[in-house]
Amino acid sequence: MLVAAKAPRREALANITQWLEAQVRKLGVDIQLGTEVGKGVVMAQAPEIVIVATGGEPHLGWFKGQEHAVSSWDILTGARSPAETVLLYDDNGDHQAPSCAEFMAHRGAMVELVTPDKAIGQDIGLTKAALYRRELYKRDVVLTPDQRLTEIYPEDNKLVAVLTNCYTDAEEERVVDQVVTDNGVLPRDKLYFELKSFSSNHGQISLESLIAGEPQIINVNPEGMFQLFRVGDAVAGRNLHGAIYDSLRLCKDF
Ligand SMILES: Cc1cc2nc3c(=O)[nH]c(=O)nc-3n(C[C@H](O)[C@H](O)[C@H](O)COP(=O)(O)OP(=O)(O)OC[C@H]3O[C@@H](n4cnc5c(N)ncnc54)[C@H](O)[C@@H]3O)c2cc1C
Repeated sequence: MLVAAKAPRREALANITQWLEAQVRKLGVDIQLGTEVGKGVVMAQAPEIVIVATGGEPHLGWFKGQEHAVSSWDILTGARSPAETVLLYDDNGDHQAPSCAEFMAHRGAMVELVTPDKAIGQDIGLTKAALYRRELYKRDVVLTPDQRLTEIYPEDNKLVAVLTNCYTDAEEERVVDQVVTDNGVLPRDKLYFELKSFSSNHGQISLESLIAGEPQIINVNPEGMFQLFRVGDAVAGRNLHGAIYDSLRLCKDF
């Protein structure tokens, strides 16, 4: 959420994490910041239950020449600055790419936002999508639907982005300084898979128990040292609602 809150008009999203932090501090939860958790850290705690909530990693997408692209996270976190002319390719359809387009346009970049969907931000609710469209049009961002990014290759000091029309397969090219892409996230699940064989439930969740509001009882490995679960984007790239509901449904009955 802190990456999301970097975008213009979205600063208030940081209140969500601030509120959650205040709640866990109030409840006396032992918080250890600045700690990269690996298998060793978990084992040293000898826990009864482990919940992995490690989120996801940005996924650039499916096209040739990935080494020439940067992610929307690179731009929003400031790891990479927007160039003068940018093609931003959105294969996700949610808030990430329109937020990133606005962020770059505010910094003076000339942006074309391309998507294979029939409209920009297809999965965003109508009222919020309208605000993005207003801001993007105001800043001369070019909105291009129905095109898939199929290749990026360098030419002279520029990048050529090859776009393929989703309906006719006709190709066109854009010559730009930078290509930014967003295809959601892939689960950051290394820790979960490292821990799986040490757990009594092999990382499985009983959906029946979850729905019935009963404790998790799967025990396929009696030698297991703890119960293991994962929540949020560590399961699959989704959204904040998914992360909070996964956690609430799992934890409210422990
Ligand atoms: C630009 C942008 C805009 C978005 N807009 C919205 C929106 O409007 N609405 C919405 O619902 N969702 C939105 N999302 C998606 C939402 O932010 C994510 O779905 C949500 O944050 C997932 O929560 P999570 O707790 O599973 O993972 P994260 O929020 O990714 O948190 C995972 C945390 O675990 C830490 N971590 C990872 N590995 C380790 C380790 N080994 N040891 C210790 N710590 C570790 C990470 O540093 C991170 O702090 C947006 C995302 C982006 C990038």
